[in-house]
Formats: sequence, C-alpha cells, structure tokens
Amino acid sequence: MKHKPTGFNATAVHGVGQKDPLGSVIMPIYQTSTFAFKNADHGAACFAGESDGYIYTRIGNPTIRDLEKTIAALEHGYDGIGCSSGMGAVTTVYMTYLGAGKHILSHNAVYGPARGIMEGTFRRFGVESTYIDTTDIENVKEAIKTNTALIYLETPANPTIGISDIPAICELAHQHKIPVCVDNTFCSPYLQNPLDMDADIVLHSLTKFLNGHADIVGGIIVTKTEADYKKIRPVMVNMGCNMDPHQAFLTRRGLKTMGIRIDRAQENAMKVAEFLEKHPKVDWIVYPGLPTHPQYELGKKLMRGPGSMMSFGLKGGLISGKKLMDSVQLCVLAVSLGGIETLIQHPASMTHSKLSPAARKEGGISDELVRLSVGIEEAEEIIADLDQALAAV
Ligand SMILES: *Cc1c(COP(=O)(O)O)cnc(C)c1O
Repeated sequence: MKHKPTGFNATAVHGVGQKDPLGSVIMPIYQTSTFAFKNADHGAACFAGESDGYIYTRIGNPTIRDLEKTIAALEHGYDGIGCSSGMGAVTTVYMTYLGAGKHILSHNAVYGPARGIMEGTFRRFGVESTYIDTTDIENVKEAIKTNTALIYLETPANPTIGISDIPAICELAHQHKIPVCVDNTFCSPYLQNPLDMDADIVLHSLTKFLNGHADIVGGIIVTKTEADYKKIRPVMVNMGCNMDPHQAFLTRRGLKTMGIRIDRAQENAMKVAEFLEKHPKVDWIVYPGLPTHPQYELGKKLMRGPGSMMSFGLKGGLISGKKLMDSVQLCVLAVSLGGIETLIQHPASMTHSKLSPAARKEGGISDELVRLSVGIEEAEEIIADLDQALAAV
C-alpha cells in the first residue's frame, strides 16, 4: 500500500500492511492447523524466533496476525495477542502476572466471571484479591499491598457504568511498580485508548463492539511494550487460549465498520437516555453522556464519546424490571453488548446472579438495575418499543 493509513476508520478498513501474497484484497481464512517449512534450517529458524514464518495455528496464523496487528494499531500498542474469548484474554493476563502469594486489586463491579474465576479458582492456587470501588482513587491507595502484582481496571465498569481515573491510577500504580491492565470492552479503541493514559495492558472482549455483529466470541490483549508482549504471548500459546482463523476473519470484517457503528449507536443512545431520564417510571439513569453521571467530567476527559451503554433503575424494583424484560418487542432480551441490535438485560437475575446479594450490593448492582446496549436501529423505533414496554410495567 502506498499510503499508510493514519485515521481510525482508514486503519480499521485497510489494516497495517499484512497482505495476502496472492493479492487477495481481503485477508483470506488460512484454515490450516500447521505450516510447511521450506527446509530443515527454515524450521529451526522459525522455532528459534529468527524467522517470522508460521509454524502452527495455536502459535500464530496469518488471518489472526492481521487482526492482532490492526487492533494493536488502533489501541496505539506494541502488538496484539488474539484469544479464544474475552475471558481467555482475562485468564491469560492473570496467569502471566499472578501466582501464589501475589495479590490483585480490582473494581468491585468488574465483569462477573473476571471476578468469579479469581475468587473461585485462582484463590485455590494462593492468589489474593481485593475488590473495591476504583472510581474513588483513595480506595485504591488504601488497598495496595506489598504483594500487589496487578491492578485490573474495567472502565466504564459493567454494569454500573462507573468510570475510573486511568491516568491517576496508573501514576499511583507505577510508583509501586505495579502493572495496570484495563478492560476497554465498553469503550472500544474508538472512544478510549488506555495505553495513551499510561496503562501497560489493554484487553477486549471482541465479542462486543469490535466484532459488533453478535456472531462470534473472541478476545484480545494489546501491550504497550515489547517486554510485556513477550511475557504474555507464550502463556496464551501454552494454555491454548488461541483464536481460530474463522473467528479472526469475521472479527476483522466487523472491525472495518466499528467507527460508523459506534457513531450511530452513540447518537441513538443519547436520544434514548434523554427519553428514559424524563420517564416517570424510571427512578434513575447512569449514562456517561448525561451530566447526572457521577463521573461526567472525568468521562469527558478519558473518552472521546459517551458510548452506547447505560443502566437505569425502574420504580418498583425487581418486579417492574422483570415485567419490562417480558414486555419489550424490538429490544432483544439477551446478555452481551456492543452489537448492532439493541440488547436489554437484568444483571441481578442474569449476569451477576451467581454473586451473593451482598457482593452485588457492594458492586452497586441493585435489583431494579436494567442494562441497555443501544444498537443502530432507528432511534425512534427503539424509543417507541421502550415506551410501550414501560407502559406495561
Ligand atoms: C463480555 C465481557 C468479557 C468477557 O468476554 P467473552 O468474550 O464473553 O469471554 C469481559 N469483559 C467485559 C467488560 C465484557 O463485557
């Protein structure tokens, strides 16, 4: 390519120079488990890391590499590590930086399974964890321990939409030589680049905005430095948390339109938020685009836009929430987010149901909380559906 793409959409569309040798405009699906070496010396060089030739798909594959390189460019990172799922990415990061006697510090409303695997599985291997409200940096200051080996943020966090001050927490963490990983799934690199705010590692569930079409599950890790990349990549490879080429192909295709999808979803979300805010049956709403959001100013500083995720509370609590779920007709009652279709869900009975009521309360997940991922349908049609469903509550 003569012109090296610089804009977000140009980079997402054209990628960063990984080209098919036969000239195919779209990177094909290299549906192969293994790659033939040219000769014994070439095989030896590949294994020694002296040649960038491909060896075996768990280790690397051209279709996956194209996706990894492109997302790394969009996140302003050194390189990317594709994973089987978002949780594959989370687990790979945990496995790389934690071990017996080490401690992780994280947000109390972090993605449910990211906390569940820590408290349920990593604890058995002697890893300590503390979950706090990281939207208040004082809590972070107090919770850092001498054995803290990773600060794991999710901002905005799922599903309370709480925003943590990435640059301030990174500064604090680095004073203690603790690496910071940010789950950037809710924003995508289109709206927020944690590595530019001094985070060391960023990860995504590709299942959400990056693929955007609710037809794959995938994950990725992007590091700021070569050193972190070289630490994490072998862990992913050896655990077998790798992507598969077909999954990478679909994600690569979805990624091309991410900028325009998010522009549209965000425009819709603002209209939906303004509608909900005024609705008499809605008790409260948290959306980074509304000045009533508790970290509204911080959100404007960290994020290029408020995104399309919001949570709201219905008057009447649990019963009203369930009635709303049963009454929507266009909005799809499903977990996940960041797709082209509007999705609605109820964390207390769904994503966070395995947490104890006390842990839910501590994470700010009340029984009446409803989460909405606004899609790209006509805003009027989404609002009309919510309007009729609220009338039934
Ligand atoms: C969905 C999600 C994950 C997990 O991703 P999977 O692809 O489902 O494994 C992690 N973090 C956040 C914020 C998510 O929304």
